[in-house]
Amino acid sequence: MFKVLLFSIMAMAAREHGAHTHGNATMSVAFDGKNGKIEFHAPAQGIYGFEYAAKSAKDKANKEAGLKKLNDKINDMVVFDAESKCEIKLDLYEVDQKDAHADVNAEYNVTCARPPAGTSVTFNIQKVFSRIKTVKVDVLIGDVQKSQEIKKSGEVVELK
Ligand SMILES: [Zn+2]
Repeated sequence: MFKVLLFSIMAMAAREHGAHTHGNATMSVAFDGKNGKIEFHAPAQGIYGFEYAAKSAKDKANKEAGLKKLNDKINDMVVFDAESKCEIKLDLYEVDQKDAHADVNAEYNVTCARPPAGTSVTFNIQKVFSRIKTVKVDVLIGDVQKSQEIKKSGEVVELK
């Protein structure tokens, strides 16, 4: 059941992602008990500032620095309730280069000491990636399925 629901929410996010609007990003968060998955999609412009294939040493360094934050900053970007004791780990990421544009996709595994259903999660994505203005968050946890637009760091989504 979890896999089926997860697939549907990810597919939904992927469709919306097709719009590729600079300044926008999408994140889906799905939980089954104590274990969860997060998918994050953003135009590369929001992650490292450009979308052409990196050629110069400066471009390559900027790209690498932006992508590194996907791993290093995820636990600052998505903060679960302290009591749930959740840890988010990067599973994989990819840069999907398409002519003049590029997308960045990242997937994470989440493991918590207690199921986070009924608590809340705080999103600080704009603090880490300042070029991203709006993040559409889709949440699937227990019986709860909701979407919320995050316009600034510190916004909270109730997991109930
Ligand atoms: Zn673009």
